Amino acid sequence: MQEPKKIDSRLSEIMVCGRSLGAFYNDIERFHGFVSPGLVLGGFMVDWAQELMRPDVEADAVVETCHCLPDAVQIFTPCTVGNGWLKVLDWDKFALTLYDKRNLAGYRVWLDLKKAHLFQKIYDWYMRRIPKKDLPLEVLLGEILNARRSVLSCCAVRVTRPFGRKHKKNIKICSGCGEAYPASQGTQCNTCRGEGYYRFQEDFCPEQSGQ
Ligand SMILES: [Zn+2]
Repeated sequence: MQEPKKIDSRLSEIMVCGRSLGAFYNDIERFHGFVSPGLVLGGFMVDWAQELMRPDVEADAVVETCHCLPDAVQIFTPCTVGNGWLKVLDWDKFALTLYDKRNLAGYRVWLDLKKAHLFQKIYDWYMRRIPKKDLPLEVLLGEILNARRSVLSCCAVRVTRPFGRKHKKNIKICSGCGEAYPASQGTQCNTCRGEGYYRFQEDFCPEQSGQ
C-alpha cells in the first residue's frame, strides 16, 4: 500500500470521489502515470455527477474528449472502455455525462469558460494562452483545488442517442493473414487491404519469416 501523498493541511478536509485528496492523487498517479490537471478537474466533475445520481443507479458514462477525462471516469466509476459502459466521443469538449442506463436520465458536467474567467490560470491553461513553462504544475493544481466546482456547470439531461455496446458481428478468417476479422470489413481484413497501421520488421519476426 502506497503512502498517501503529503497534502497541505488546509486541503486535508477535501473529499473527492469518496477519497481524501491524498488518496485521490495516488489513484490518479497509479492509473495515469502522473497527476495531470485535466484529470484532477475531471475527478471533480465525476464527483459532482456521482453526487447527483442516486447511489443505487447503475450509471453509464459518456465523455466528450479523448484527453484525460476518459481516465477520470475509468478511475472513479465502474465504467471503462473495455466493459462498454464508457463511451468516448472525440469532440475535444471538456464535458462528461453520467446517466442511468435504464431510463437514460443523468447529468452532464462541463468546464464552463464563463466561470473559468474568474480563475485566470485555469482559463489560460485550458485555452492554451500561456506556455507550459510559465505555469508550473503545482501552481495550476493549486488553482484547480481552489476552484473545484466553481469552474464547472452541471445540468440534468436525458440521453437521446443509444450507446449500447455493439455486439460482435459475423467473423471470417482472412485469406491474407489468417487472423479472424469482422466480415463487414470485406474480402480481407483492413490490414491486408492496405489500411493497416504497421508493417512487419524482418529482423524480428520468427513465426512470419518461417512461412
Ligand atoms: Zn488479413
